[in-house]
Amino acid sequence: MRYTINILTIFPQAFDSVFSQSIIRIAQEKNLLKINFYNLRDYTRNKHRKVDAPSYGGGGGMVMQIEPVYRTLAKVKRDFSSRKLYVILLSPQGKPLTQSLARRLLRHKNLVLICGHYEGIDERVRKYLVDEEVSIGDYILSGGEIAAMVLVDVLARLIPGVVGKKSSVENESFEKGLLDWPHYTRPQRFKNWRVPQVLLSGNHKKISEWRKGQALGKTKRLRKDLLRT
Ligand code: SAH
Repeated sequence: MRYTINILTIFPQAFDSVFSQSIIRIAQEKNLLKINFYNLRDYTRNKHRKVDAPSYGGGGGMVMQIEPVYRTLAKVKRDFSSRKLYVILLSPQGKPLTQSLARRLLRHKNLVLICGHYEGIDERVRKYLVDEEVSIGDYILSGGEIAAMVLVDVLARLIPGVVGKKSSVENESFEKGLLDWPHYTRPQRFKNWRVPQVLLSGNHKKISEWRKGQALGKTKRLRKDLLRT
């Protein structure tokens, strides 16, 4: 069955170049993923299509209002009639995005991603309208669009059939609690820098052992924290 990702944003054009290339394009072309955009401004009820207002309590900064989000979500629900939607808010306060979180999110065939802006979004959105909040890291972006692009990219390559070889996804960093092993390609020698001899040996057992050793060694050196989990 096909996956759909519905993106609620005030900047739908921001996604064009990223989504029309590489893996995300392939996922759509293979009909394994359908991405729909809903412009929050289309669901406002004021002449200027404004989606924000000053923060109650003062302190400056504009806050994205709940009403356009609510009305847009209602439209998505109508479009999906009885099909279940799982609603995600991109937010620096959300669960940090990891490979395993992405796999869990993929259990839902129809996702909704809400992109905030300004100081953030009215807290009632997160309280009453959202199933889960996801963060792409401990830093502040100006808006949820780039975070949504990151999430869509991570999800798209996990959809069965999108990436040609299953093993190339399964062996990647973080999939088995380890970083990926090093990869080399032609030429065998560049300046005086050589490809490790074992990879040219044709001995698959040795190659496999070497790769596992390298992955473990790299993880110990660079990301000890991964080994603890
Ligand atoms: N004032 C808020 C930040 C608002 S940033 C706070 O301090 O928590 C504006 C919007 O950008 C957010 O609503 C969210 O949608 C998006 N955003 C910012 N940083 C993000 C991150 N690290 N991960 C996911 N979304 C993020």
